[in-house]
Amino acid sequence: MTEQNKEWAVGIDLGTTYSCVAVWQEQHCRVEIIHNDQGNRTTPSCVAFTDNQRLIGNAAKNQAATNPTNTVFDVKRLIGRRYSDPVIQNDLRLWPFKVVASTDDKPMIVVSYKGQEKHISAEEISSMILIKMREIAEAYLESPVMNAVVTVPAYFNDSQRQATKDAAIIAGLNVMRIINEPTAAALAYGIDKRANCVGERNIFVFDLGGGTFDVSLLTIKGDVYEVKATAGDTHLGGEDLDNRMVNYFVEEFKRKTKVDISGNPRALRRLRTACERAKRTLSYAVDTIIEVDALSGSIDFCSSITRARFEELNMDLFRKCMETVDSCLVDSKMDKSDIHDIVLVGGSSRIPKVQQLLQDFFKGKDLCKSINPDEAVAYGAAVQAALLSKGNKYVPNLVLLDVTPLSLGISVKGDLMSVMIPRNTTIPIKKEKVYYTRNDNPTSVLIEVYEGERARASDNNLLGFFNLSGFPDATCGQPLDVCFSIDENGILSVSAEGKTNGNRNEITITNDKGRLSNQQIMRMIQEAEIYKAEDLKYQKKVKAMNALDDYVYRIKNAIEDIDNAQKFHPQDKMKVILAIAKVRNLLDASQQTGTEVFEDYLNELKSLIEPVVRIS
Ligand code: AMP
Repeated sequence: MTEQNKEWAVGIDLGTTYSCVAVWQEQHCRVEIIHNDQGNRTTPSCVAFTDNQRLIGNAAKNQAATNPTNTVFDVKRLIGRRYSDPVIQNDLRLWPFKVVASTDDKPMIVVSYKGQEKHISAEEISSMILIKMREIAEAYLESPVMNAVVTVPAYFNDSQRQATKDAAIIAGLNVMRIINEPTAAALAYGIDKRANCVGERNIFVFDLGGGTFDVSLLTIKGDVYEVKATAGDTHLGGEDLDNRMVNYFVEEFKRKTKVDISGNPRALRRLRTACERAKRTLSYAVDTIIEVDALSGSIDFCSSITRARFEELNMDLFRKCMETVDSCLVDSKMDKSDIHDIVLVGGSSRIPKVQQLLQDFFKGKDLCKSINPDEAVAYGAAVQAALLSKGNKYVPNLVLLDVTPLSLGISVKGDLMSVMIPRNTTIPIKKEKVYYTRNDNPTSVLIEVYEGERARASDNNLLGFFNLSGFPDATCGQPLDVCFSIDENGILSVSAEGKTNGNRNEITITNDKGRLSNQQIMRMIQEAEIYKAEDLKYQKKVKAMNALDDYVYRIKNAIEDIDNAQKFHPQDKMKVILAIAKVRNLLDASQQTGTEVFEDYLNELKSLIEPVVRIS
């Protein structure tokens, strides 16, 4: 297969704050991180809606301060969760955009698009970001891209994985595999830095990004990458550190000016941007200044923060990270001294205090900072994508063995959690167990599937449930086979079969309450096409308007030249001036004017002007 007609497969790191896309380049035997139209190798995971158009990536982020309520970010924190989740309730207070609950407790983002209120799910917003990443890849490869490996935090639960997969389907992508972010980063590290290494190496990946935190312990032996244990928090990252700083300065502003900006989305958005910048500065400087002009009304805000104060504001979060590191090590049954390399991934791993605590935890061992923490995940995903594609001869022939992050089981008598698959079990896996019907309802059995580590089933996360019926009346203690299987993407299916009556029922855990139905996904796929068509229509209109505007500019220059040479006939000059005035009116009423009107008028203008003035 040639590079031209090749079916490309890319790796996409769909991040909370930034996303990154990469591809395996067979002719160079290496991964290429693909830059976007701005020349940046990562793209903000941000989507905005205006009266005219939808914006994704840098364009969306750049207008956030002027359009805060319709600029959506952080959706990775919403995806696969319920609206009533306390974590979501907490976030809601800090987001400038509005989120409401659907009838089935799904969080829906409320935006105004083309003057109309729209309720959009986190999956749909994520699909828009994925479409953007796909377009970035297509522009670079000059070829359509259909196939992708998409990464998720290792600690994402079944619902969050399913929802991410749905987002990719809505984006029209064929998801070759969902892989865990730290595992992808370990792959990048192994290929890039440990290519010629012999023997077994234990790698500890510390991945602190914008919204999620993961740690994974892997053993690399030859070409086999085996995850031994993973732990994390799907709601801990740089955004939380920003929030702390925002709250700190909101209080300071209130103290100094008696003005409370906590209910002012525009002010909060502008302060958040300044805080995020200050946080980055504090990774290399010991103090920095925060300046926001006209933060509230005409009141400017200027203050400073030291690195020590920033660390104090976030110390409990940093300590929480270290507790997770410890629990991962305990789960893997390894000692600190068994770890050969500690690999830093995710933008927030650049924070000096985080690095110091981690180094202290590993008794002063040097941390590996040699791979790019913003790009390593997409790099690893691109390698996995190449491995799963046909026709790549030179891609390293690796084997990835990942684990399931949370224990999975069913509820048995007394609301107890009967674990079928313990956490940190290597996937894919299939496990069967025989259960017996209870005497309280012998004709049918309700199978409730949970994930989590608590002994009481209802304290864990209910993933889904189904009924198995048809048992002989009034006979309790009927045996039934329950089977759990997790695929390579970490997605669970559960089936149950009555051993005596042969009745069978099964579900791929659909997280009944939160997950999109097939019908909803189909509708969103169609809507994605409509959005795309509208984006293209608007781009065409802007192009036509710009062409007209540019032509007027050139006419004006030509008139000036003629005036200078004093050769312009007054009648011709008047004709030109009137034509320019008409253009101005048209451009002022651009909302109501169609693309064809601009195009037609440009042609009309050319035929009117060109016999009179020579336009260069
Ligand atoms: P990621 O999800 O890996 O793209 O990480 C993005 C997060 O890393 C954001 O919260 C950024 O503010 C944060 N970040 C990026 N660079 C730095 C830095 N130099 N110091 C502190 N945080 C950073």
